[in-house]
Amino acid sequence: MKSKGIQGWIRGRIEHPVQKKHDERLLIDETHSCPSCHRHLSAQELEATLYVCPHCQHHFRLTAWERIRFTADEGVFQELSSEIETANPLEFPDYEQKLDAAFRKTGIKEAVVTGLCRVDGHEVVLAIMDFRFIGGSMGAVVGEKVMRAMLVAAEQKLPLIVFTSSGGARMQEGILSLMQMAKTAVATQALDKARCPYFVVLTDPTTAGVLASFAMLGDVTLAEPGALMRFAGARVVAGTIREKVPENFPLSQYHYERGFIDLIVPRQDMRATLGFLLRTHVQAAGGKG
Ligand SMILES: [Zn+2]
Repeated sequence: MKSKGIQGWIRGRIEHPVQKKHDERLLIDETHSCPSCHRHLSAQELEATLYVCPHCQHHFRLTAWERIRFTADEGVFQELSSEIETANPLEFPDYEQKLDAAFRKTGIKEAVVTGLCRVDGHEVVLAIMDFRFIGGSMGAVVGEKVMRAMLVAAEQKLPLIVFTSSGGARMQEGILSLMQMAKTAVATQALDKARCPYFVVLTDPTTAGVLASFAMLGDVTLAEPGALMRFAGARVVAGTIREKVPENFPLSQYHYERGFIDLIVPRQDMRATLGFLLRTHVQAAGGKG
């Protein structure tokens, strides 16, 4: 990992990279139908509904930059930590090629994009994961960028909003990847000490090492409808607890009913909901934003 230290944030306004279509959405281009209800959909229709099927409310996965576009106020996103690059510390075979391929496919350098912006008029730090980049897996750079986003929020007394989407740890980085769970979990204490509200939005899918670290440590935890979230698969869980698990156990609704999630928020209402949370919590904490 090459790092210029925490002072090396990119402060200038940046252009959004070319949008590459998500795999799930390539399917739409081919079949022109929703994978859930199989009704016909057009690209214009989906763009207008923030990529939610108007017939069955299936929430398509978003790229990090689409999410930023749908969440941040227009024209004010300043990316942080974009200078950090992933190396191959364990010399895992073909890892560099995999990273190159992921970059070419997505236009982003890692599985999380972090930055300063405004949401509903409130200044915030935003971190958004992108599942297209090696399954949104958390290696050393993803952990570092999330931790730095937390430290920037704490230093500048700003709220932090994180949208998670991840398959878990990055296997090519072995133990270094697992260490990011502890690192990001500990960094949330800086937010507590600075009295900065920390909001998490769980999107499809949020699993394993990310779910078991910073994704479940928010002050308020939201989720999109139908988002898959689990630490391990149904077979592993059933084998561990020696009980049959319900079919819907990995979905956000199941976790909401058991109190792990505070609210399930449809995508069309997400900005307004975050705006409400920012208004109420920022005033309560006496911070900026
Ligand atoms: Zn549908």
